[in-house]
Amino acid sequence: MTPQPTCANPLGARPEAAEASSACGAAYWRSRSDAEWRRRLTPEQYRIARQAGTERAFTGRYWNSTVPGLYRCACCGSALFHSESKFESGTGWPSFKNPVTPQAVVERVDHAEGLTRTEVQCGCCGAHLGHVFDDGPPPTQRRYCLNSAVLELVPASSGTGQSPLKTSSAGPVI
Ligand SMILES: [Zn+2]
Repeated sequence: MTPQPTCANPLGARPEAAEASSACGAAYWRSRSDAEWRRRLTPEQYRIARQAGTERAFTGRYWNSTVPGLYRCACCGSALFHSESKFESGTGWPSFKNPVTPQAVVERVDHAEGLTRTEVQCGCCGAHLGHVFDDGPPPTQRRYCLNSAVLELVPASSGTGQSPLKTSSAGPVI
């Protein structure tokens, strides 16, 4: 089996390193076939991450979680959001004020369902994560409204919240 490169985009990574797709592993993850994603993900994860689906409000694992730690992409393991930026939005979906780094996510305008919204994708593998709105708390006013199914919380108490994945040889020294 081909070893899977880990994403060099953990908390504290240098932005210039995260931008380099070869260091991030994006080239690897973005070349995975649809069939492989179907095998790799649960049906619910596949529907959300690969087909821009949305889980029902108040049903996900993390909408009301207050466990401190690092939320990683459930598809590729890339660091996305820290629990410190999570807040209770009342929407029934896990909501965050900002990603761990600006490069951790990619935002693009989405016209699905007759609405104009800003979709949020994993900056590494391109998985659909949710949407971002401008009605969040100050000072940023940002509200990243995400699906629990495509997130994997690494609790800080586990001692691996910073870097649960082995460091890739191509990754930065942290
Ligand atoms: Zn990802």
